[in-house]
Amino acid sequence: MAPLNGAVVPPKKKRIGVMTSGGDSQGMNGVVRSVVRMAIHMGCEAYAVYEGYDGLVQGGDLIKQMHWDDVRGFLSRGGTLIGTKRCMEFYERPGRVKAAKNMIERGMDALIICGGDGSLTGADKFRSEWPGLLEELVKTGELKQEQIEPYQHLNICGLVGSIDNDMSGTDATIGCYSSLERICEMVDAVFDTAASHKRGFVIEVMGRHCGWLALMASIATGADYVFIPEKPPGVGWEEEMCDIVTSHRSWGKRRTIIIISEGAQDTELKKITADQVVNVLTEKLNLDTRKTVLGHIQRGGLPSYFDRWLSTLQGVEAVNAILDATPETKTPVITIRENKIERSDLQECVALTKSVAEAIKQKDFAKAMKLRDVEFKEYFDSYKLTTSTDNTALRLPEGKRMRIAIIHVGAPAGGMNPATRAAVAYCRSRGHTPIAIHNGFPGLQRHHDDKPLGSVRECQWIDVDPWVNEGGSELGTNRGLPSEDMDKTAYCFELYKFDALFLIGGFEAFTAASEIRKSRDKYPSFKIPLVVLPATVSNNVPGTEYSLGSDTCLNTLIGFCDAIRQSASASRRRVFVVETQGGKSGYLATMAGLSIGALAVYIPEEGINIHMLARDIEFLRESFQHDRGASRAGKIILRNELASDTYTTQAVADMIKEEARGRFESRAAVPGHYQQGGKPSPMDRIRALRMAIKCMQFLEETFAGKSQDEINSDPRNAVVIGVQGSEVVFNPMGGDDGLEATQTDWKLRRPKNEFWRPLKGTVDVLSGRPTDLDCC
Ligand code: ATP
Repeated sequence: MAPLNGAVVPPKKKRIGVMTSGGDSQGMNGVVRSVVRMAIHMGCEAYAVYEGYDGLVQGGDLIKQMHWDDVRGFLSRGGTLIGTKRCMEFYERPGRVKAAKNMIERGMDALIICGGDGSLTGADKFRSEWPGLLEELVKTGELKQEQIEPYQHLNICGLVGSIDNDMSGTDATIGCYSSLERICEMVDAVFDTAASHKRGFVIEVMGRHCGWLALMASIATGADYVFIPEKPPGVGWEEEMCDIVTSHRSWGKRRTIIIISEGAQDTELKKITADQVVNVLTEKLNLDTRKTVLGHIQRGGLPSYFDRWLSTLQGVEAVNAILDATPETKTPVITIRENKIERSDLQECVALTKSVAEAIKQKDFAKAMKLRDVEFKEYFDSYKLTTSTDNTALRLPEGKRMRIAIIHVGAPAGGMNPATRAAVAYCRSRGHTPIAIHNGFPGLQRHHDDKPLGSVRECQWIDVDPWVNEGGSELGTNRGLPSEDMDKTAYCFELYKFDALFLIGGFEAFTAASEIRKSRDKYPSFKIPLVVLPATVSNNVPGTEYSLGSDTCLNTLIGFCDAIRQSASASRRRVFVVETQGGKSGYLATMAGLSIGALAVYIPEEGINIHMLARDIEFLRESFQHDRGASRAGKIILRNELASDTYTTQAVADMIKEEARGRFESRAAVPGHYQQGGKPSPMDRIRALRMAIKCMQFLEETFAGKSQDEINSDPRNAVVIGVQGSEVVFNPMGGDDGLEATQTDWKLRRPKNEFWRPLKGTVDVLSGRPTDLDCC
């Protein structure tokens, strides 16, 4: 098998230890699995250090060599299966001397640690002291000079495992999105009761020093007010909160949700408790208000898709970082920026994290927000903008206000509704007029002058507020395109005086924008700016690595796979061939494969052939032979719906069954539209808000007050907002360098260069699937 990312297989067998430390978080097991398997794949030996630093200090049975099959089934388990513990001994030098001795006796000189900032600080200290610790061991006669000789340099790599998302330098820590998911499930559950009784709920969430969970939960559930430690409310917060709640109620809202971080305080650093908030609402507004403290529920449950994906890829990157390291390399921590996994300087990230706490202590909250990271501040500002009620100061002058039409195009995807809600709220606060187009382009085209169908309506805040956690498309969406009736489409643009069009959808939305863009010469009403926000489970829109709805879909898909795999554990040895959506793009199948540990993934980009199937059936035979105990649960092969015309999902399942000759069973499973999911995932909800507001700001900053000619000559007059690597960008669609000409495979309805293709190799490496496809 080819090594990943071009790293070279080292000549001597390096022994790499992996440890989980600090508070447990979902995804830590994914780290252990990927480190163990990647290490073995790269010709190294892998060791698990049980019970955090305590295992390193005590040694003995707490350090165990791990083999390929030892981590089977790890990906879908919550908590940490190798344990974690706070270890006082490791804070002191004698404890670290013992740890160094244990490592050398095991022949280990590399350690990958997944934990919070405390654990990573300890790791860095251990590395910097290493030569001194070895010297001490020789001096005291515990080890001989020749024993320490081969271990002069300790290689350390950190991974951030924490539910709080409190580490600076990374957008997400391993575990934070699973935890957010748990919180949102609970808050969503409270919604109906709150609305039924017109009640208020004050919900306390974790985060002593970091408000990420509270803020993101507030965005994702449309809470009315939030308390976080980094941005405390000023003196008189009671009045501000009551004003907002009163306004929201006067607009027709039946429920009040307030989210409070456990570390909430005021600007004088005086603690604000959930009870206090309940009392204010009860006494000042006479609102029947209850308190709910979520507590340890937030740590529990299964890891979400994103945490499985992140832990797997960061584990792989950590092994590569260890193998690339030289004595001069600074200790790395693996981070993520937007969609890009990177190596950062561990000391710098820890120092930055500590400086946030220091800034809060100094009551310098502006600095604390700035240091936390750009994205966090952006989210906070966007949240405030969409919940605040007094926006008169934010209103633009008349000449800069726009009539912005919003349309959903294509199949429904999680996040379409929250994105629309955010866009409407933004428009309202800035003085723009948000106009909803119902039922896509066919809705518009059904217009008759003598009998208007009402498919074009101006939106109020309260119309869209309940959409915050709704799946599907409340506006109504379908695959119809402008070209089905271009004249009528252009007529309606003119009739309703649209100044801009905001399209939310998948490849059809991209196609619709392209059609309008290309018809501008014939129809002057099309000379308005167009922005496409990708929203499709297939994630196949050119210009972005992320589409709204894909996270919801992947969460649903892995839940489905977990459940059917489990169903096989009590009965017989069984392989499930699961058919995924995705059209001609293998994104969904590959990402799901990565996060459930699929045995094989079949995608349209590679097709399926007889050699592949024969080899995979042989691989299945071997795999079942090695299964023991709990690892007997079913195995999964993922097949994209269009991977092959001949080898259908049922045909693949039948062939496997036939060839297994009774040694194992095979079934086809087609989750179909179930994959589109119910409620949007928290990630899709919060990204919907951020992306939609960025789109509105883009329209406003680039085109507000501009003439038709100015708009027409600007290459940004039709763009796709996208995540590309570590950035959010607006890519022009037209022109020689535009997305349509350079990055679109129109026939296969997908981007020409699919960013995720190299990850297919990682799925194979981590499942152990042979990849010598030369014969095929
Ligand atoms: P969480 O975010 O869940 O609190 P954490 O990694 O910050 O995770 P800590 O309890 O601070 O959790 O640290 C875990 C362990 O790391 C400690 O019990 C200790 O063994 C080690 N450790 C932490 N800080 C240091 C340090 N400054 N020096 C040496 N070891 C440390």
